[in-house]
Amino acid sequence: MSIYDDLKQALEVIQKGGNIELIKKVIDIQKQAMDLMEENIAIKEENKSLQESLKTKETMVLENGFYWMEIKNQNETKKEGPFCPGCWIKENNPIPLVFNPEKPYDSNRKCPGCEVKFVMEIYEESSGSYMADHNDQYSDLM
Ligand SMILES: [Zn+2]
Repeated sequence: MSIYDDLKQALEVIQKGGNIELIKKVIDIQKQAMDLMEENIAIKEENKSLQESLKTKETMVLENGFYWMEIKNQNETKKEGPFCPGCWIKENNPIPLVFNPEKPYDSNRKCPGCEVKFVMEIYEESSGSYMADHNDQYSDLM
């Protein structure tokens, strides 16, 4: 039984006694209990969201100027990306870079979040690694 139900029962008992001041006080406490219950639900939701973002953070790795998301399965680690370094560092927002429609080649990417354009230089083609060569906008963050 919740604190709200307990207070409701207490109010029913007090109402029989007819003490107006006491009834008002219990109604006031009941309202405060409702507020606390709502706040508790909001805090639980926020906590869940923070736990999830913390989990994501643990799997983001910086490699040659770009962020990549490491997704670990049972015995396999998959790497997805690249993600925009500016959006990740500034806002903790993992935004995958997309092909730049103005220059639709594999090495040209664009962040749909902040609109920054990147040129990715493939320096180790066999391992599929990339090197960042992009606008100077985020060079202070690297
Ligand atoms: Zn961005």
